[in-house]
Amino acid sequence: MSFSDLGISSRLIKKLSEQNYTQPYPIQRETIPAILSGKDILGISPTGSGKTAGYVLPILMSLHENVISKNRHVKVLVIVPTRELAIQVKEVFETFGSAMMNPVKSLAVYGGVSINPQMMAMNNVDVLVATPGRLLELVDSNAVHLSEVNTLVLDEADKMLNQGFEIEMNRILDLLPRKRQNLLFSATLSEDLEPIKRVLLKDPVICKIANAENTEENFNLDLIRQLGYFVSEERKGPLLRYLIKKNEMKQVLVFTSSVFEADKVTDKLRKNGIDAAAMHSKKSQGARTDALSRFKDGKLNVLVATDLISRGIDIAFLPHVINYELPRSPKDYVHRIGRTGRAENPGEAITFVTPADSHHFRVIQKKMGKWVTMIDSEPIDLLGN
Ligand code: AMP
Repeated sequence: MSFSDLGISSRLIKKLSEQNYTQPYPIQRETIPAILSGKDILGISPTGSGKTAGYVLPILMSLHENVISKNRHVKVLVIVPTRELAIQVKEVFETFGSAMMNPVKSLAVYGGVSINPQMMAMNNVDVLVATPGRLLELVDSNAVHLSEVNTLVLDEADKMLNQGFEIEMNRILDLLPRKRQNLLFSATLSEDLEPIKRVLLKDPVICKIANAENTEENFNLDLIRQLGYFVSEERKGPLLRYLIKKNEMKQVLVFTSSVFEADKVTDKLRKNGIDAAAMHSKKSQGARTDALSRFKDGKLNVLVATDLISRGIDIAFLPHVINYELPRSPKDYVHRIGRTGRAENPGEAITFVTPADSHHFRVIQKKMGKWVTMIDSEPIDLLGN
């Protein structure tokens, strides 16, 4: 999976390759789509696993769509425990922010140095990276206002909320608007999760890569009934409509491998009276968020998506996933079908297999360690679908 599959813009991708970021790291594959979809997240990943870019990139993508903020009203607030981390995170924002169409201004503020230069530098800052004590000093002297923060990042969240920063953190949280996106990162978690739960109110996505090579273990494949249909290329569309109608599928996530195909499948479904929307990297963030939230609320029958949402997105009780096209990697297959069969609720995953796909599908099944029941669709009468 590439950065472009994750919805990162071509300007940023150019900058990423200048920095030798050729492929997203596992934590980034999880966090980027989840953050772009507007979810709160709890990222649990070891230091050095690439979590900074995991939130910097999607934040820059969303800032891009935001209107200019009022002076001294920051939009993005990143709270870190140390001066070193503040400087480091600010540098990552600066490096990638310089690639945006409207350059993003970031600033790091921390104690132990004179406050005046920091007050002066606060003009038109979009992203403020701060240690808690100095942040409050700046708030108290009216150098910065937190009432328009729409994204809060707590790096080293466990430490910030449990070990010595509680009083400052409580004050800061009280100054923030209630409606905001919360992104919490931690290498480890304490026994007491209450402080974290108090910040992450809205059904967060948990992005965990402690076990990076074994992400599949997080899915319970036994809860997913897997079926495959042998089908010719030209009968795929009619078969999709037939299955949706015959099984009265109310909420089905259809995966395609390209943006072009996602749009084509969506169009065809709509023309046949099925309520469908496409979700992929070429759609605006607004359209993506809207489609996903309508789908999650059960107001949209079919969501046709690329692998952009195969990871990290949690759709409660999703009953059906259909692979209209096979993904390239077996890992992506597991992630796609893992959108269903979550939280101990059974689900069904159907895969369309054309003659050209059959070898690849065998490879996928072998890697997954499970064999899928196959049905020949040839005898099914698809006329009228
Ligand atoms: P972090 O955990 O964010 O401090 O990142 C650890 C190191 O990995 C930093 O030097 C980053 O520049 C580097 N890094 C993060 N993501 C990638 C990537 N996708 N490809 C190559 N290097 C990366």
